[in-house]
Amino acid sequence: MEIVRVVDLSRIIDSETQVYPGDPVPHIEQHSTVRRDGFNLMSVSMGSQSGTHVDAPFHFDDSTLKIDEIPLERFVGRGVIVDCHGVGAREAVTYESVASQIEAVRPDDIVLFKTGWEAHYGLPTYFDNPFIDSKLIAALLVRGVLTFGLDAINIDETPDSDHPGEGFPVHHLIAAASGIICENLCNLEAITFADPVISILPLKFVGIDGAPVRAVAMEVR
Ligand SMILES: [Zn+2]
Repeated sequence: MEIVRVVDLSRIIDSETQVYPGDPVPHIEQHSTVRRDGFNLMSVSMGSQSGTHVDAPFHFDDSTLKIDEIPLERFVGRGVIVDCHGVGAREAVTYESVASQIEAVRPDDIVLFKTGWEAHYGLPTYFDNPFIDSKLIAALLVRGVLTFGLDAINIDETPDSDHPGEGFPVHHLIAAASGIICENLCNLEAITFADPVISILPLKFVGIDGAPVRAVAMEVR
């Protein structure tokens, strides 16, 4: 096997990273310096779901899997990109709109929804993200898919004072199946090759709800 290309699908982590409303903002400061200590080393603090990250089922259900309890196989696999760009603000990506694209999905594939909403990153409209309909997720779970991702901050509608949302139905549906969700992906347009190998391996935190990831798509032959 040869890795021909590695495409970065991850957001930059710094104090400018756009986080979910109310979440901690990443903070990076110098802890040691070459001049004083002989080496550079930073102190890093951030939310467990800042930037490109994976949600474990525990994020929405105390009784289910934490990030370290998920088999690593679930974070690596063949990617299927579902093109749903053109979906509007706070609109659902429906089963009917992408049914033909998921016919070839196999068990354990990693399904990434390309909504195009990543273009709103850094703007207030990033929180008016399109979201994925429960019927579509249910159909993919039946096919044996347990790993989902998208180029938006939330696979469900993001509630605010004008939009109460529906209570994160897709997060609950995927958590109930012990599946995982990768949010804040970017650069999905750069996956121009068939059968990308996706890797979204999380940092090895123990007993928590999720973790930042360096998400990549690899072209292999
Ligand atoms: Zn989430």
